[in-house]
Amino acid sequence: AYPIGPSRLAPCPWPAFRVPPYKSAKTMMKPRCQWLRLASAAPRRRGYGVYRGVVPASTPMQAVRGLRTNPWGSRGFWRMGIRGISSGRGSAFSNGIDGIDDNRLGGGGDSTQLVRQNEPPSFPHVVAVPISRRPLFPGTYAPLSVTDPNLASRIIELSEQGTPYVGAFLRKNEPDAEEEKESAGDSRGEEAAGESGDSGGSAETTEKTDAYGGHSGESTYFDQVSSGVGDLSEIHSVGMLAQINRIVRSPLGGGIQVVLYGHRRIEIQGILEDSNPLAVAVTHRTDPTPQDNENTDLLKAYSNEIMGTIKQILQYNPVFKEQLQLFLSTVDISDPAKLADVSAGLTSAQASELQQVIEAFDLEDRMSLALLLLKKELEISKLQQEINRKVEQKVSENHRRFMLQEQLKSIKRELGMEKDDKEALIQKFKNQIEGKDVPPEAEKTIEEEIAKLSTLEQASSEFNVTRNYLDWLTSLPWGIFSKENFDITRAQQVLDRDHYGLEDVKNRILEFIAVGKLLGAVPQGKIVCLVGPPGVGKTSIGKSIADALNREFYRFSVGGLFDVAEIKGHRRTYVGAMPGKLIQCLKKTQTSNPVVMIDEIDKIGQGMRGDPSSALLEVLDPSQNASFVDHYLDIPVDLSRVLFICTANITDTIPGPLADRMEFIRLSGYIMQEKVQIAKSYLAPNALKETGLSEDDIVLEDSSIESLIRWYCREAGVRNLQKHINQIYRKAALNLVRADADADADTDTIIDAAAEKKEGAVDADKKQEEGKENKQKKGLGETL
Ligand code: ADP
Repeated sequence: AYPIGPSRLAPCPWPAFRVPPYKSAKTMMKPRCQWLRLASAAPRRRGYGVYRGVVPASTPMQAVRGLRTNPWGSRGFWRMGIRGISSGRGSAFSNGIDGIDDNRLGGGGDSTQLVRQNEPPSFPHVVAVPISRRPLFPGTYAPLSVTDPNLASRIIELSEQGTPYVGAFLRKNEPDAEEEKESAGDSRGEEAAGESGDSGGSAETTEKTDAYGGHSGESTYFDQVSSGVGDLSEIHSVGMLAQINRIVRSPLGGGIQVVLYGHRRIEIQGILEDSNPLAVAVTHRTDPTPQDNENTDLLKAYSNEIMGTIKQILQYNPVFKEQLQLFLSTVDISDPAKLADVSAGLTSAQASELQQVIEAFDLEDRMSLALLLLKKELEISKLQQEINRKVEQKVSENHRRFMLQEQLKSIKRELGMEKDDKEALIQKFKNQIEGKDVPPEAEKTIEEEIAKLSTLEQASSEFNVTRNYLDWLTSLPWGIFSKENFDITRAQQVLDRDHYGLEDVKNRILEFIAVGKLLGAVPQGKIVCLVGPPGVGKTSIGKSIADALNREFYRFSVGGLFDVAEIKGHRRTYVGAMPGKLIQCLKKTQTSNPVVMIDEIDKIGQGMRGDPSSALLEVLDPSQNASFVDHYLDIPVDLSRVLFICTANITDTIPGPLADRMEFIRLSGYIMQEKVQIAKSYLAPNALKETGLSEDDIVLEDSSIESLIRWYCREAGVRNLQKHINQIYRKAALNLVRADADADADTDTIIDAAAEKKEGAVDADKKQEEGKENKQKKGLGETL
């Protein structure tokens, strides 16, 4: 009765593998040996597992051993098979194998060498095993986790019977595969147990097939088969005759894990009735040979192209190389059909695309499909390498940058070019006071603060306060003075250059210089306060005085000022605390002897927060200001070398104690002649400069200045006069520009007019000629 399809065999009467077969071998092997005797009537075939195990029924233990030495039972084979399928996928897999290995049922053979699979007989019926991830290719292995109890026991049975062959068919894509994926897990065995093979439970399928092989967890190496085939519509009709290579009980319990080896294509012809799990009648399709095909050149071209593409892929993907080597050792690639299968099987294409290759019986079709998949794989490999390159480049760039920066830092530190931030800061402060004549008290404070700073945490607020304080302390012009000018003539010249008259003030400054020259030092004395109506030159002369004395000039107005902190500074404990105006002045001018003009001292305010005029007392008192203590700095600063000049409109509102410390110089208003002189010599030239006119453009006559002063600017000062003169000059500028524009326009008009005239003359000539012609015509008509 050869050949005997597995489905024809009688169901195994004993509970397969529940009890280790060795223990009760005598009782268990009897029915098996009966069957074996039956099978042994068939012609022997080399390599067919059943026959290798055949022994006389009287020695059942030998039969068991015979099975154990079968190629599918060998441990080494198992390992090779696994690698063949999931080459390069890491150690997790090997761990899994080790776990399973202890549990093995198939009996561990000692052989570790790769055993070539022999050609199985053409069974007319096979049990249909649905696979989901990707179709099985000839010469490749697929690990399955079978949790359907019926199917599992049938597989064990087949293996036991010595016909370890099934039909592996790819499941068609199902919409609820996703749901199954979620529910797949430990409960998978239970669910499957509730389903019978022919119940049509197609929903109980396996993990969803994805294009990348679905490496999402421990069980992903196994294609999950949780139910047998319920109906033919669930699976593709072309599949693979697969040999069951290895059976182990699932370590998770419930079901078995098997490795299938693909042999040849089979096509379903129909269902075998009453089979559970479903067995199908199949026709076996042998691979077409090149001889069958007329167009051998084309096949050769395909083969070459496929090989070329594989070589290209190898350049990008070394993992591919490993896989290929393994395949080459098992499959003869000189056969174009095999080559197409091998190359398609290597790709990570989608299951449906691979199934197309399985279903392609025509050699040309199969090769073109395989080539297409390979080309796609090549593109993916290129893309993958590009992505990899970019990521690596980015990582290495950042890494390189970091390394270089670190190196730079250490080199600089080594050379003493750069200290840590804090050290650099301290160094900066030390540099700032270098060469300055810092008084001992200030020096002590600076040292203390620097010591404090070095102990503070950089991120703390205290650090910032200390840093700011040190910044102020070290940036003050300790012991720095601008070189005084004791040259009376030069001072006189500078003063006269900027201001007319104001003899009292000028004389006072000259006196100051003269005394300074005689004493060899700057004289101490009363503070000068210029009192006079607005616009008489009180403020503007301050700058001239500074120039005449060759000192820096700083001006600030105290009009409306009511906060003492503006003069004496805030305490450092306040947020945003700053020193007062006088310390700011020293920092700004970077000299300890500037001319400081305190403007509008008669309008100083009085507020709730103390009296600024009283604060000014300390500043302006020559006997006190040598050790002026600002609230912020908290150390005495010498202001005695500063020349203070105050301005006021009236003296009445100046607080008594303050007025007491001042020497008033009164500037009365100017009379007509003075104003004319000021206008002619100072205001008009200034206005000329400001408006961009030249002296030829405008002449301001004395009589007009006089009438301007008499009728328009009758105030004491000259500010209004200055405004009027400026206005006159601006108007003159406008007139000048307008006249230029008109002149341009006129020129254009003249040119236009000339052009028109020319055109008019031409027209007149034409008219004349036309008139002549008309006359001639008229005369002619009359004659006629
Ligand atoms: P005050 O401060 O007294 O109100 P300013 O000093 O601001 O007056 O003077 C107003 C303008 O008048 C300034 O542009 C200044 O150049 C000019 N000025 C005042 N007096 C004279 C003068 N004697 N010589 C030249 N220009 C003067």
